[in-house]
Amino acid sequence: MTMVRVRFAPSPTGQPHIGWARTALFNWLFARHEGGTFILRIEDTDQSRSVEGAAQVFEDAFGWLGFTYDEGPGKDGGHGPYLQSERLASHLRVLSQLLAQEQAYPCFCSAQTLDAGRAEDRRLGRPPRYPGTCRDLTAAEGRARIAAGEAHVIRLKVPTAGTMVVHDLIRGGVSFDLSLLDDFVLLKADGTPTYNFASVVDDAEMAISHVLRADEHLSNTPKQLILYQAMGKTAPIFAHVPMILAPDHSKLSKRHGATPIAEFMAQGFLPEAVVNYLMMLGWNPGGDREFLTLDEAAQLFTLDRVQKNPAVYDTQKMTWMNAHYLRALDQGELWRRCRPFLAARGLLTESADDTLVAYAKAALSLVQSRVATLAEAADAVTFFFKEPQAFDEEGVRRHFQRPGTAGRLTALAERLADTDFTAAGLEGALTALAQELGVPRAELIHPARLAVSGKTVGPGVFEMLAVLGPQRTVQRLQVAAQMAAP
Ligand code: GLU
Repeated sequence: MTMVRVRFAPSPTGQPHIGWARTALFNWLFARHEGGTFILRIEDTDQSRSVEGAAQVFEDAFGWLGFTYDEGPGKDGGHGPYLQSERLASHLRVLSQLLAQEQAYPCFCSAQTLDAGRAEDRRLGRPPRYPGTCRDLTAAEGRARIAAGEAHVIRLKVPTAGTMVVHDLIRGGVSFDLSLLDDFVLLKADGTPTYNFASVVDDAEMAISHVLRADEHLSNTPKQLILYQAMGKTAPIFAHVPMILAPDHSKLSKRHGATPIAEFMAQGFLPEAVVNYLMMLGWNPGGDREFLTLDEAAQLFTLDRVQKNPAVYDTQKMTWMNAHYLRALDQGELWRRCRPFLAARGLLTESADDTLVAYAKAALSLVQSRVATLAEAADAVTFFFKEPQAFDEEGVRRHFQRPGTAGRLTALAERLADTDFTAAGLEGALTALAQELGVPRAELIHPARLAVSGKTVGPGVFEMLAVLGPQRTVQRLQVAAQMAAP
């Protein structure tokens, strides 16, 4: 039985986003399910497009999402290096072998000549192809021109006719007409290998058993299979995972979700919710089960449950899933996750004492069922830590500008000053005062809520006042009384 070895091989041209994370996750789940190895290889061969510190960025994103690689930068498993730019010696070794076997050849055609040829192909309605100009130069002539310093690329000799069937575990058998392929470039004029070449050499040397990658690479697969044949190597098994589309079925862009994972982190999404949402993009565990942990998914993950059709990314669904996970956190965990968000808003510092921690926990519990992200939770509890800086305008018109409100708020402040600060005690005191004043309770409740929170909606008013405590409550009622209509 073959050992399952899969790799996630991003080109580090930006921050890891949803599409990348989903491909990485499927590789990881497959590796775990099969008891195999998950490898991270950074395809940074095109140095001009690569970003610094890419390995760290991916490691951080994986760490946050809860899956890690078994082999990769900084984790040698005997198949390193794991930065493609450091593997050039292997690429060149394979290249010499292909040149020696006359399966590859130098091509001296200039960019202008090739451009003109492609333009002519298009004009005649043919797919643009390299015409094979240098294919039949003799090896001796090739060597002489290279020795004379002539600019060149190295191309692979590709069969010019026939069909090739790619057996894909997700897509099934896909036929490609070889007459549409041309002798593609292995090594560019600047001496760097192309993606198709470097990736195949690396996959072969890293003993990759299965290549699980984005659908957009399916059309590269026949070229890669031809390369494996030329190299005399067995090709891995391929599985192309469906694309992720935006909600309007257009290509996913930054606007709708090619959002970097780091941004989901910053917005207060929970990693377990993001991972749960991602695994459902193109895979289903069977039945109508929707909530799974990484471990549960790893137990169930098989490629026959990966769909062929594109998956549609839906921010609302992901937010809904996040809210579900957020609601299930216990008080201590909710606090632990929210703490950095509270600190970032300057609501408390690292040295918060036990009383303040207990206060924050109580406040967070009150808003937990009303928010979808940790950032929203932090915003929703801000008034527990800071007096309202502004009051809802519509609320001010409806609740503060009603004649007599100033007096009612003052009376409420006085009454609550010596009330038992429990939800029940507060409700009793407010109800009694409303009766004495001969007004409906709402005429005290609405202005009081606005006075302490600045808002017209929020948690239950008595629970909220109980957490705020007598000092903050009374003081805020007094401040509001100054603003309210006499
Ligand atoms: N570096 C390629 C990419 O980021 C990898 C494709 C592959 O997995 O072969 O799209």
